[in-house]
Amino acid sequence: MSLNRRNFLKKAGVGIAGLSLANIPLIAQQSIKKDDIKRNYLPTLKADVIVVGAGPSGVPAAIAAAREGAKVILLEEDWAPGGAPVDMFVTFMCGAPRTGIYLETVRELNKNHSLGITPSSTFGNYAWDNKNHWWMPSSYSMVWNKMMAAEKNLTLMCGCRVVDTLVTTKGNRNTVTGVVMMRNELYQKVEAPVTIDATGTGLIAAKAGCDFFYGSDAKKDFNESIGLEKSDGRVQPCTQMFISQRTRSNTEFPREAFKTGVLLYDDAKWETHQTPEEAVRKDAGIYLHWGSTVPVADTTDPIQVAQAQQEALIKLKPKFEALQKAGYTSHIAPKIGVRECRRIRGEYVITVDDVLKGVFPDDHVADAWYSLDPWGMKVDEKIKQSVGPYGIPYRSLIPVNTEGLLTAGRIISGTRLAMSSYRVQPICGTIGEAAGTAAAMAALNKTGVRNLDVRSLQNKLEKKGLFDWYGNVNMNVNNKPWKK
Ligand SMILES: Cc1cc2nc3c(=O)[nH]c(=O)nc-3n(C[C@H](O)[C@H](O)[C@H](O)COP(=O)(O)OP(=O)(O)OC[C@H]3O[C@@H](n4cnc5c(N)ncnc54)[C@H](O)[C@@H]3O)c2cc1C
Repeated sequence: MSLNRRNFLKKAGVGIAGLSLANIPLIAQQSIKKDDIKRNYLPTLKADVIVVGAGPSGVPAAIAAAREGAKVILLEEDWAPGGAPVDMFVTFMCGAPRTGIYLETVRELNKNHSLGITPSSTFGNYAWDNKNHWWMPSSYSMVWNKMMAAEKNLTLMCGCRVVDTLVTTKGNRNTVTGVVMMRNELYQKVEAPVTIDATGTGLIAAKAGCDFFYGSDAKKDFNESIGLEKSDGRVQPCTQMFISQRTRSNTEFPREAFKTGVLLYDDAKWETHQTPEEAVRKDAGIYLHWGSTVPVADTTDPIQVAQAQQEALIKLKPKFEALQKAGYTSHIAPKIGVRECRRIRGEYVITVDDVLKGVFPDDHVADAWYSLDPWGMKVDEKIKQSVGPYGIPYRSLIPVNTEGLLTAGRIISGTRLAMSSYRVQPICGTIGEAAGTAAAMAALNKTGVRNLDVRSLQNKLEKKGLFDWYGNVNMNVNNKPWKK
């Protein structure tokens, strides 16, 4: 289904006050009337589920909730969906599983947006072939726009920054009943029984008064077997990503300017100074760069993040010049890549030992598998790489003492070391799909997110094939204790 203006109005109209066509003009009128400007507010919208943030966790969350039959409004502050892959040029996936809506995403990316022009012959059915693939940032945006336009219950609203939450308080429990966003420079409330914070920053949960962690923990804080004796309060550093592309014929990539972190399109190997012959032979003409990395003390502070980007771009100047001289142009990510922000304290805090031991708790709603990858912190390489599959508990998506709110993606409840593993995109995607499914069930059955029947949720996720990936996947599982 194409998402023309009429369809958009129809879809958005259905969500308002549970009414349908009669409400269409209400949305249409929201092209700002004098009265709205005077009040500084647009009329309130209603939905079953609100998702804030259209990134790797938010998009699967919104699609999953819509497919369960919930009316969903997905609010994104940027003017295009995508999150880190689109606005930070993190167009590369690490980790597993790649199942459900993320698998649909990968298949569509591979089929119609491969940088190798034709779909990759090496791509396994489960989108896991032990090779490195990446796509252009705009490809993610196109794929997710296409997937979301096909969902009749889902309304994506871009250019809508959420700035506050609607909360009622009873005793020590806060109930989130919706959010306040900025649209056309006016405020607008959106009400729903369930909101999902998929912002990557945890802003929505923080605004709702939820407790959160920021920066490294000490080992003793959560009885972890590895980590810092004393917290240094740091988050992982930020990285300015960019893409270089050949613009003149008869040119050669200036590889002497790059030691590591350059990725050929559709290739099995990282391009480094150690593999020049192969790089010349393949001659991709387009490369993904982990540009320069800068520490930021407070990633919630826009001034510090802006200064980090300026510093990163200054550091990159010699590389941009080398590329330009060699006949390559550089596409620079609009936002510097922020790896870490708030982690929202949930009913369970995932620890590094849960990750290392491969714990699958009773309420596990998403599978995860990726090494520990804590940039800026030394961890024994053998320990890092020893991680096998583990499970994400539903409790880690539920903020403490809060109803009506779930978290998804990298902000769920875990220690900094645990998060360094599950922060990768495919895992954020499966967490998002679980959160969206749970949110729809909680909203439609009026149970709230805390009294949800987790077994029914797991059954639904199992039917979608979310836990069905071991053994079907062509992955290198030799010498791993959890090998099937
Ligand atoms: C430099 C860097 C390199 C990385 N490398 C890899 C890699 O190689 N492979 C891999 O798999 N992962 C990698 N990651 C990790 C991964 O990209 C992120 O952890 C992942 O994107 C998190 O997904 P998310 O949905 O939680 O948040 P995000 O991707 O941050 O998406 C959040 C979305 O919410 C929106 N938003 C935020 N606040 C608001 C608001 N108030 N109102 C409305 N919208 C809002 C944002 O605009 C954004 O679109 C990397 C990350 C970085 C920064």
